[in-house]
Amino acid sequence: MSNAVYLDQIKQLVELQKVDDAIFTVKQELESAPRDLEELEQRFEAVDAQRNRVLDKLTHLQEQQKRLSLEIDDDSARIKKSKNKLMQVGNTREYHAMMREMDSMEKVNRSREEEKMTLMEELQLQTDTLAEIDRNHCALKAELEVRREGLEGKIQNARVRLESLNQKRAQVSKAIPQPVFMRYEFIRVRLEHPVIVAVKDGVCSRCNIAVPPQTFIELQRGQQILSCPNCQRLIFWCEHFSLPEEAAATPRPTPLTD
Ligand SMILES: [Zn+2]
Repeated sequence: MSNAVYLDQIKQLVELQKVDDAIFTVKQELESAPRDLEELEQRFEAVDAQRNRVLDKLTHLQEQQKRLSLEIDDDSARIKKSKNKLMQVGNTREYHAMMREMDSMEKVNRSREEEKMTLMEELQLQTDTLAEIDRNHCALKAELEVRREGLEGKIQNARVRLESLNQKRAQVSKAIPQPVFMRYEFIRVRLEHPVIVAVKDGVCSRCNIAVPPQTFIELQRGQQILSCPNCQRLIFWCEHFSLPEEAAATPRPTPLTD
């Protein structure tokens, strides 16, 4: 084909690629939006579970505290009763026996007081932990609510954009000769985005491999649409276009697999 026809077709394909670039971005947005939320949901669930564990611990500690207090009160009452009885004992042997009993009761009570102190320390520790978790829990919950609301709007917006891009795509495609368009579509459904890429300084801008010199010469001549022998994508010479943003395709992150 003539150079003019060639350039015309390349221009049309690049135009189509631009629409497909936009479609690709919107589709990625649609895909990643719920995933971002999922991550946040998982983080919230983890904090929520952590919070519930601390709450359980606190309930358990409070029960223990209550039980201990009751036991301590009980024992104190019993010691008091024994002290009163002590006044009424008749002989020394009985007196000593009662003293020993009171001693051991007081000892038990002292160890219970110690246990109570330890419990109170643990309670304080868990209460502090809960306060810290609560701050995180609150912040995450608020963020989650905002993001959930935002997601619906984001998806809606993306769908609208996608719809109009698809219409634009149909228009742009119609201008391209059928066999050329079919060739583009053949690659599009088989290879990862994109389909047509610029060759700069003899190097394919998608796979970063130099095209063979003979292919590069043919490419510069611009008479038939060529493919990159390495990544199989359609190629064009970046200098065939005066507008750099139109032709010399902006560098895209190169995926690892190709
Ligand atoms: Zn390539």
